[in-house]
Amino acid sequence: MQSCKLRPHHGMCIAFFRGKGYDEAFTENMTSIIDMLKREDPHITLTISEDIICRKCPHNKEHLCDSRDKVGCYDSSVLALCELYEGDTLRYSEFEKLVRDNILSAGKRSEICGDCCWNSICH
Ligand code: SF4
Ligand code: SF4
Repeated sequence: MQSCKLRPHHGMCIAFFRGKGYDEAFTENMTSIIDMLKREDPHITLTISEDIICRKCPHNKEHLCDSRDKVGCYDSSVLALCELYEGDTLRYSEFEKLVRDNILSAGKRSEICGDCCWNSICH
């Protein structure tokens, strides 16, 4: 089964994305990834490493995020709250619902990533 790699915390970033990003290449890639996820509802495999969004990010240095300790904590928190594990594969729509129900609607987003530079726009 083919699946896309997705970092768990990107489930939250996708929910709040409004066309702003680190640079043009990042924003264009993020926009097209979100379109694809919503249109095709592919299987995704949760990973705490480079994913389809990181690929075009200026913070991705030789396949490693330059904030990997911080974002790795975000990823672990999302997995725990959704009762998921790294390596799990599920439909994007199932993952989106778990993030919405267990984190966003429960008001837990800022506990996870309140120290992110985008915090003020992710409401
Ligand atoms: S604050 Fe940062 S990590 Fe949290 S959802 Fe927004 S962009 Fe993603
Ligand atoms: S490389 Fe780091 S900052 Fe860039 S999208 Fe991936 S996790 Fe986010």
